[in-house]
Amino acid sequence: MPLSTPSRLALALAFSLGLSACPQPKTAPETADVAPEAPSYTLDEAKLPPMNSFSAADIDSAGNACMDFGSYINKNWLAANPIPSDRTSWGAFEMLDERSNAIQRQIVEQAATMKDAKGIDKLIGDFYATGMDEAKIEAQGISPLKSRIEAIEALSDTASIAEHLRQSYSQGEGMLFGFGPEADFKNSGMNIAYATQGGLGLPDKGFYFDADKQDKRAAYEQYVARILTLSGLAPADAEREAKAVLAFETRLANASKSSEELARDVSLYYHPVSPEEADKLTPNFSWSKFFESQGVEKPAMFSLAVPEFHREVSQMLVDVPASTWQSYLRFHLVDSSAPYLSSDFVNAHFDFHNKAMRGQQENRERWKRVLGTINSQAGEALGQIYVKLAFPAESKARMETLVRNLGDAFAERLKQLDWMGEETRARAEEKLKGFTTKIGYPNKWRDFSGLETRRDSYIENVLAANAFNYRWSLGKIGKPVDKDEWAMSPQTVNAYYNPLQNEIVFPAAILQPPFFDGKADDALNYGGIGAVIGHEMTHGFDDQGSRFAANGNLENWWQESDARNFKALSNKLVQQFDAYEVAGQHVNGKLTLGENIADLGGLAIAYDAYQRALGGKTPEAIDGLTGNQRFFANWATVWRRNFTPDELKVRLTTDSHAPAEFRAIGAPSNLPAFAEAWGCKRGDAMVREGNNQVKIW
Ligand SMILES: [Zn+2]
Repeated sequence: MPLSTPSRLALALAFSLGLSACPQPKTAPETADVAPEAPSYTLDEAKLPPMNSFSAADIDSAGNACMDFGSYINKNWLAANPIPSDRTSWGAFEMLDERSNAIQRQIVEQAATMKDAKGIDKLIGDFYATGMDEAKIEAQGISPLKSRIEAIEALSDTASIAEHLRQSYSQGEGMLFGFGPEADFKNSGMNIAYATQGGLGLPDKGFYFDADKQDKRAAYEQYVARILTLSGLAPADAEREAKAVLAFETRLANASKSSEELARDVSLYYHPVSPEEADKLTPNFSWSKFFESQGVEKPAMFSLAVPEFHREVSQMLVDVPASTWQSYLRFHLVDSSAPYLSSDFVNAHFDFHNKAMRGQQENRERWKRVLGTINSQAGEALGQIYVKLAFPAESKARMETLVRNLGDAFAERLKQLDWMGEETRARAEEKLKGFTTKIGYPNKWRDFSGLETRRDSYIENVLAANAFNYRWSLGKIGKPVDKDEWAMSPQTVNAYYNPLQNEIVFPAAILQPPFFDGKADDALNYGGIGAVIGHEMTHGFDDQGSRFAANGNLENWWQESDARNFKALSNKLVQQFDAYEVAGQHVNGKLTLGENIADLGGLAIAYDAYQRALGGKTPEAIDGLTGNQRFFANWATVWRRNFTPDELKVRLTTDSHAPAEFRAIGAPSNLPAFAEAWGCKRGDAMVREGNNQVKIW
């Protein structure tokens, strides 16, 4: 599970389970072309934004570390660092993201002006040049979508709609449900096909029903009408059809699982059926035909996740009028294409998705948006140049040492757990030993040859990449899992654990301050990236990760009484986070449980590893702070982050991570080492004792 949810919320389980109709590129087996004549790129460090490190000068000297540690460390910084108008959150992650963007900008600008560029240089150069060519984009308007809209307007009955769905999926443009490869939960060395729920324009099921989301529903309906009007409908027709689209999606939402349900039961993604059985479940949508139309050999079985969703789609194919299907498909085609079209569409898309939903005041500059597109369509093409310029080799060696030390500290804690019996403990130890660690960037880069881009049209390049990436991902179905693949590009500021491969992965871009600093003392590095490493390791042992065995298979390796103890401890953590409140809303302790278990275990393990690294010596105080104080101070620094109220509202419903301010204090408040480091007393808010204290790993 990613350490932090990226701006696209669909990535909440992106490590492996965030199947989407337009799969994001991952890595592939082919070796990159690092030919000797490869063009060289240069990096002008002076143009990069500053790093964001812990500074003792930021501490709120009037505050009290033992009452509210987050505020004590971060209050001044948060007040001095408001959210930029083109963002909806601002903190350590976003600042590193700006830095990563600035590096990437230098790369793509050089690629775009390269003479006779080939391979990945041509690919990223073409994307960037067409994405920046506003005059051409304005002149093209919606015309690149003309033939697609005409095809939708011609739909008349169940058969033609089903055929249209198959056709659009085969181009990588399917948008009603998720379809793509993932490791078989019961045989994790092999990829099978997964069809998942999808098709909603609002972020989560609750947005269609909850009383406190009425304003968002109204904004959405207006937006649907605006897009339909821009796409050529008369305004009165567009308003009527927008209501129909909302009703259509409300039916889908009613048959869908919520973010919380999916986060707390990973097995909901796994519902193995044969295509024939699936056809019986969805009599009006043939999966046998679907596989054929996608050019995928009909498998013996695939996962039809959330079957009641697919059953509802099947029913809607016969009882929703063709005109409503047209409106639904037309809206989503234009909505998903809008960022690559002329300014009318870009502005409408921004006004709803960013401004109304999340409180972003201004759109990001065009170059940043274009970089976002390149990252989602061809992230590893850009990434292989990025790491050559911006990832020092010594970072990898230092990280390897840190990971080893964290693993040793975790193994020691496993030995001492009082709530776990010997049989389960042996299996847990086996799982920990079985971890694979990936640091910086992949050993092998994905091959992009065959993806044809040109200098004619931005959206044509995007659509070509959609189709290319979809074909590439479908090529994995029925094949062994490629263990060298990464689910995040090296320039991503994040980290993840993949339970199906039992691997922890740390992209190059997170290996910078405040997380990691080659020049900083151990206290800061263990409190930063050390705790991140511990967090990802603990995901292997959170409430969902612990359902997978050392080999990555979904398999119960727990003795019953141990599972009961684990559940009881987890429930206490649910209660702790349920009690946190922000802007009149409570945190959802269930939705965020897995991440909170990972934070609690990760910080505890990192603290132990730091003590081992000190080897009994007491480091000299720096700026009046002991090593142990600096360790906890950097943990809180990592979680200093401002959010717009709207962004928070969306996250409280959909994000499996608690808001940053509670991550800064939640785990430390359960650790006796924290109270000791800061001299906190019984009764202080940051001191949980006895039955109120949770220790799991
Ligand atoms: Zn996580």
